[in-house]
Amino acid sequence: MGECPICAARVDVAGDAIAGELLVCADCGAELELIATAPVELAEAPTAEEDWGQ
Ligand SMILES: [Zn+2]
Repeated sequence: MGECPICAARVDVAGDAIAGELLVCADCGAELELIATAPVELAEAPTAEEDWGQ
């Protein structure tokens, strides 16, 4: 279980989640990136789409 850095709601993080996974806060809808898993640390994901850097 992590905490949304935007609205502080609890965000469900799977037990086998890995750093770098993207999650969506069910409360505010923000895209979050899982920075670390032990302990769980979440950050707001970059807004850029996957085609950036081309
Ligand atoms: Zn949120």
